[in-house]
Amino acid sequence: MEERFVRNMSLLVTGLAIFICTSLYYLPMLEVRAEQYIEKQIRARRERKEREEMLAMLSGLEFLDYTTEQALATAEKLPEEEQKEAVEALDFPQQLRLELPKNVSQDDVTVENHYVEKTIDITIGGAGEDYLISYPMIGRSDHIEDLSYFFELNGGTVELKMERVYEMSLDWEGQYLYIDFIPPKDIYDKIVVIDAGHGAKMPGATINGVMEKDIDLAIVLELKKLFEGADDPSIGVYYTRLDDSDPAFANRSGLANDSDADLFVSIHNNSYQGSADVRGTTVLYDEAKPSEGQSSMRLANILLEKVTGALGSKKRGLTKGNDIFVIRTCEAPAALVEVGFMTNPAELANLTSEAYQKKCAQGIYEAILQALEEGF
Ligand SMILES: [Zn+2]
Repeated sequence: MEERFVRNMSLLVTGLAIFICTSLYYLPMLEVRAEQYIEKQIRARRERKEREEMLAMLSGLEFLDYTTEQALATAEKLPEEEQKEAVEALDFPQQLRLELPKNVSQDDVTVENHYVEKTIDITIGGAGEDYLISYPMIGRSDHIEDLSYFFELNGGTVELKMERVYEMSLDWEGQYLYIDFIPPKDIYDKIVVIDAGHGAKMPGATINGVMEKDIDLAIVLELKKLFEGADDPSIGVYYTRLDDSDPAFANRSGLANDSDADLFVSIHNNSYQGSADVRGTTVLYDEAKPSEGQSSMRLANILLEKVTGALGSKKRGLTKGNDIFVIRTCEAPAALVEVGFMTNPAELANLTSEAYQKKCAQGIYEAILQALEEGF
């Protein structure tokens, strides 16, 4: 009995001695760890405070540059064993990195690309008012004209105003969303911009309650179906409007100029109060532009042939249209089709029929394909 007690005691003492020695050996390291941890906490708080102050002073884009530099500086201050990995994590190939708040998942994020306004909205459900401060964005600010953050009750939206039209690629890695911006010409061989005339409070001609804007849009929607049906990955098509909106003139031709479009087609309908007999199809182009080769005049000509061919409408011919903003300011060959006269009762009846709108879309579609074949 006693012998066992002594053995246990000596075991206990030996164990205790080992424990104390080990603790004494590791204690300074633990202390260093604790110090490092506290230092990190203090630094994080200080950096957050700095971000708060900077956000109040800087523009959205300057703030992006600031948070990117700050993240790099922080990574470089890390202990050697963590530093390399942290610095490398900031050197991603995409342009932007957003971090989702802890309570937010990928499903709470929607990204919308508004090509006409050249605006990209990244809406993060559940993001707080201080999102940009708590989860700073990292990346490069080129291609972006302006960056803002709007907070609403259920989350926030990062709005990027882009310099040009871009497509996007989105890559997720855990709580990180990486965004890259791709010029349309890197994706498509040919780019076509389609413009439905008027919209919203600007109805165009209104005859017997029929508004030109609705006919223009109906034809464009049929045209869209044709492009989608063909599903040719080499042709990218952008539309100035697909609903009852009224994009600014500068945004209409801007969509073509900023996407490096190869051609621009605007769709309208005519009216003439002087006589109800006047009818037929006219195509306008900017006569001040060069008329050789793949010119606006040639595009107008192809459209006139194809549309009148498809509709059996009267071929009124080409008209000079350099006073029309959207075709004058368009850098690519551009033409404006006046499909028919709404003031002519028979033509108005045709223009409001779905079958006629479809035929018209088919004519415009074939004209565009022919133009592209000709090397536009
Ligand atoms: Zn019009």
